[in-house]
Amino acid sequence: MRWALTRKRGAPDGLWMKCPSCEGMVYRKVVEEAHNVCPECGFHFRISAQQRIEYTLDDGTFEPLFENLESGDPLSFKGKKSYKEKLQKAQKATGHKEAALFGTAEIGGKEVVFGIIDPNFIMGSMGSVVGEKIARGAEHALKHKLPLIIVSGSGGGARMEEGILSLFQMAKTSSAIKRLQDAGGVYIAVLTNATMGGSMASWAALGDITIAEPQALLGFAGPRVIAQTVRQELPSGFQTSEFLVEHGFLDQVVHRKELRQRLVSLLRYTCADMKAFEKQTVKQRQTAKIKAGPAPVQG
Ligand SMILES: [Zn+2]
Repeated sequence: MRWALTRKRGAPDGLWMKCPSCEGMVYRKVVEEAHNVCPECGFHFRISAQQRIEYTLDDGTFEPLFENLESGDPLSFKGKKSYKEKLQKAQKATGHKEAALFGTAEIGGKEVVFGIIDPNFIMGSMGSVVGEKIARGAEHALKHKLPLIIVSGSGGGARMEEGILSLFQMAKTSSAIKRLQDAGGVYIAVLTNATMGGSMASWAALGDITIAEPQALLGFAGPRVIAQTVRQELPSGFQTSEFLVEHGFLDQVVHRKELRQRLVSLLRYTCADMKAFEKQTVKQRQTAKIKAGPAPVQG
């Protein structure tokens, strides 16, 4: 059955929606039932943090952490709109104080620290609060011996309105994740469209396991900037999930409808590993690493 039909005359507003990928008119209810994926071409629409929680976690298990952190305006930044105005608009639109939401939750009965970067909040860009929440999320995972899962949606990269303070977050989040991993913790990165810039160059790329939704744009600089810089035509599908999995940058591409079940399976494997690590202190583990010597260099 074909769903991409032209809009019916007289149909109420909002009953049909246009897919930006195949440009077909698709029935909104069918899209929603498919976790906001186009039934025609598989395009994954942008979803809210609340929808991500619904689709991924066990019902009613999300317990928010670090809820009271709120961005300041350290540079008194003013563009067309002031940073303060942008923050207020995003807060009103999404119903939360910042782009990052963190909490403890269960997936398939297994407790995890779960983070989401909401793409609807200033393009999911990373300012001081997003960075702080990611770092604290990793620390909470380390302290309580829980796996860490972060679903990125950071098309905005590092948040320019906070200048260098946003760039600091790259080092801070990377260090916190490294400490978790050194202690034997597990971090699963789930990348969604789009994850770019300072986010992709730090915490989003550091997963022990990195999975992405189909057709997501993932990279540092955007394809147009790269093409203009190198003055070459880029290969087809450059910087998409499918391209990156072929080139060894990602472990898996997973359809949104299958994501929850995939996480349940991955947690089953990784948590068995964590049990052994839980018995070791960080120091014991570091000593074991030094004795084993450096990892072999390839090529
Ligand atoms: Zn489509």
